[in-house]
Amino acid sequence: MATRIDGKALAVKVKERVREEAAKLPRQPGLAVILVGDDPASRVYVSGKEKDCAECGILSFEHKLPAETTQEELLALIEKLNADPAVDGILCQLPLPGGLDEEAVINAIVPDKDVDCFHPFNVGRMVIGEPVFLPCTPAGVMEMLREYEIPIRGRRCVVLGRSNIVGKPMSILLTQSDGTVTTCHSRTENLAEITRQADILVSAVGKVRCVTADMVKDGAVVIDVAMNRDENGKLCGDVDFAAVEPKTSYITPVPGGVGPMTRAVLMENILTAARNHQA
Ligand code: NAP
Repeated sequence: MATRIDGKALAVKVKERVREEAAKLPRQPGLAVILVGDDPASRVYVSGKEKDCAECGILSFEHKLPAETTQEELLALIEKLNADPAVDGILCQLPLPGGLDEEAVINAIVPDKDVDCFHPFNVGRMVIGEPVFLPCTPAGVMEMLREYEIPIRGRRCVVLGRSNIVGKPMSILLTQSDGTVTTCHSRTENLAEITRQADILVSAVGKVRCVTADMVKDGAVVIDVAMNRDENGKLCGDVDFAAVEPKTSYITPVPGGVGPMTRAVLMENILTAARNHQA
């Protein structure tokens, strides 16, 4: 019988811990959130993060900019926030409207305020095993595996996806926990043959029902990172949940799995930044 990993409940616990620790600091931690344009999905993400901040006793400073904002104006704002002592973390909601250079924006945020862990400096620190921050989604997955006491050492791990924010760092963190990791992508051949070897299968593709029951070994742990909309507009992951769940030992639902943990790790990263700034 499969155990459903309750990311929502775990995220509540993590955020309570952050709240307790944040309250011990001499100065209340602060997050600056930049939202350019009025993409509805981005607005939902930003308001979710602001709600999390309020729950954790973290101040949030919202900077809403019009879609016509120029690169120079955006970089000038980041420069100002970099120097603001009340701001511990800076988050620029992606994607940015066309014409704005996301890479330049990521590189402009000072690494000690890069709570998303997107800056090359922080990515490098993570890769060499000396992280300042951990990337939120993969770190959230690692926390779920730890909480449910799912062993990684020596086990076959397969990660579907190699993006900079999910797939690649996920493979690195699993390797650092002594998993034997295979990273798959759109050019991978004989995908099902590889996924069937996985003791732990993490999917971050972004395609509805691309992980089917025949791709999953009996007793595997299946972590579904994706956030897709099915043909009825309902939020779902990559995994054909109804068919796959009975084969697994542990599985994350969508919604209520990785998503809430991603948000909780962001709060942990802001706490880390605030501690470092107040040390
Ligand atoms: P992405 O940048 O589009 O990357 C998708 C990856 O999947 C790419 O590496 C791609 O390979 C690979 N891929 C595509 N088709 C494949 C196939 N048939 N078999 C195996 N691999 C395949 O997406 P992302 O930003 O990593 O996000 C992935 C999913 O996670 C999305 O649904 C996103 O919404 C979700 N997400 C969720 C959270 C959360 O908090 N839960 C956070 C971030 C993202 P190539 O590299 O060859 O193109």
